[in-house]
Amino acid sequence: MVLVLIDHDRGTLDELSLQAVTAARALAEALGVSQVEGVVVGEAGRPVAAELEAHGLAGLHILDHAILSDFAPEAWGEALAQLIIDRSPSAVVGVGTERGNEVMAYAAAVLDLPFVANCTEVNPDDPWTITRVRWGGSLLEEVSLETRVPMLTVAAHAFGAEPVGGGGPPIDVFNPELGDHLARTRVTDRVTLDAGITLTSAPVVVSGGRGVGSPEGFAVLEELAELLGGAVGCSRVATNNGWRPHSDQVGQTGTRVAPELYIACGISGAIQHWVGCMASKTILAINTDAQASMVTKADYAVIGDLHEVLNAVVAEVKSQSAG
Ligand code: FAD
Repeated sequence: MVLVLIDHDRGTLDELSLQAVTAARALAEALGVSQVEGVVVGEAGRPVAAELEAHGLAGLHILDHAILSDFAPEAWGEALAQLIIDRSPSAVVGVGTERGNEVMAYAAAVLDLPFVANCTEVNPDDPWTITRVRWGGSLLEEVSLETRVPMLTVAAHAFGAEPVGGGGPPIDVFNPELGDHLARTRVTDRVTLDAGITLTSAPVVVSGGRGVGSPEGFAVLEELAELLGGAVGCSRVATNNGWRPHSDQVGQTGTRVAPELYIACGISGAIQHWVGCMASKTILAINTDAQASMVTKADYAVIGDLHEVLNAVVAEVKSQSAG
């Protein structure tokens, strides 16, 4: 049997879980095992059973305990580990999201098993050969895996969500034994951010890096972003220097953006930054260095001091709006 972790947020299914179910079914077939069983953490996840109808699950385990009422990665991982010991699956598949990877990593650590995250292809030969995404999508890695229970997550959109017909899976409630210490990291409150333009929804992102020089240097980037109905982003150097909050950081360890226009001001274009902005429709680089990676990859570039260039652009936009 192959076990698949179905992620949800207080009963709302993470749709990527259906892709993980497809991957788990393909893996079960390749392994020659007949069944795929789902696992949902917390009673709050029970409503997702209806959405799993027709996805070929032979059963759905609900892990029930008071600590599991909301997201608590350590406790979710321990509870999953206990189910794995109880059910002895041939493999465990999860979703390659931050949450899915975190829970699977905890479970693997508890069981002292290796864990392979963000897989795009899985061949259960001897040893298993796996392709997985690394470095924010900029690299594919070939992995060879020897383990008693392969634990892996599938990269988003590497598999389609393909229903196969049939009814809803029978439900089994599993009660893990969990100590209070496992509730150290858990969601206790949720705050809704003010509606408005965010980095991910903005049609224009004006982003600044080391070249901006100081927190005050971002004033002209903010002015341009406001004139264009956009948002301000930044590189990791800007956050590391304390010039901008981490929520503004674009890149592998920040936010991935895909605006109509990305204006990269004083940003060299390191790969870790590039993966966060490369999906932008148009990229304009403003940089003193004509050889900077961001300049050579951008659709348009202006070579010069960013403050001089931005002040001129702001003045022009204002005069166009006035006229
Ligand atoms: P620099 O590389 O120093 O570039 C500054 C640029 O400004 C240069 O091109 C220079 O020519 C130009 N410049 C200087 N003065 C001016 C001026 N007056 N006018 C115009 N141009 C000027 N980085 C991220 O951004 N996001 C991430 O999520 C991220 N994650 C990372 C994860 C890991 C594991 C690691 C190892 C690194 C990560 N980084 C990330 C850091 C990344 O490798 C780079 O160090 C960083 O992006 C560089 O920032 P920068 O372009 O602002 O600075």
